Amino acid sequence: MSDSDSDDSLRLTLWPPGSRQHTPDIVESSSALDFPQAVYSDESERGSTSARRGSGRRGPNERPGGSVSSRVKEDRIPPPYPWSTDRRAVVQSLDWLVANGITRIQGDVSCKKCGNHMVDVDLRASFYRVSTYFLNNRDSMHDRAPRHWTTPQLLQCDICHQLDHCRPIVSSKKRRINWLFLLLTETLGICTLEQLKYFCKHTRKHRTGAKDRVLYLTYAGLLKQLNPAGPFD
Ligand SMILES: [Zn+2]
Repeated sequence: MSDSDSDDSLRLTLWPPGSRQHTPDIVESSSALDFPQAVYSDESERGSTSARRGSGRRGPNERPGGSVSSRVKEDRIPPPYPWSTDRRAVVQSLDWLVANGITRIQGDVSCKKCGNHMVDVDLRASFYRVSTYFLNNRDSMHDRAPRHWTTPQLLQCDICHQLDHCRPIVSSKKRRINWLFLLLTETLGICTLEQLKYFCKHTRKHRTGAKDRVLYLTYAGLLKQLNPAGPFD
């Protein structure tokens, strides 16, 4: 595969035809995480919500007859965030997000000085930064996350403007972990090995090994979810 193929697939996903490249903020920061979940109130509901998933995401797990049973729990869950799907640890694709007007991603953080608040990041710019870094450095990573991913710098605070002060809050309930926010802020490394293994388990990644190995798989897996056509395998 050539570099130009990679670049084209990135570009297509970043700016699909007809989309606006610079979209004003349309998500109110305080309400974005409180979107209605009534549609998914029954966790046992199966098979009837597959149309909501991003196109082309994954085929073999369709189960009208329930024949696939043992490997991983297939129950649909209420999507914990507007950018989540109804599958554990699976986020929507970049195309889907942009088509649905989601261009900024919010996350809860705890500042050493200011306490807890919410910050948001630009979806496309952050994806471009992380994915470009991954593709440019993958060959030298040897399937292991680099140091700045395993021990990430904390975020700059919007309020007190201190660097390295805001730690993303990782939900103690694994299905509510804000994977996309952690990816885009390159702070997935604050997750425990157990949390990272949860991601890999539910996205069918090989999940044994040291934390830097599992963390690498988590970065690659999330980039692939955002851009299913991209070379992130
Ligand atoms: Zn602060």
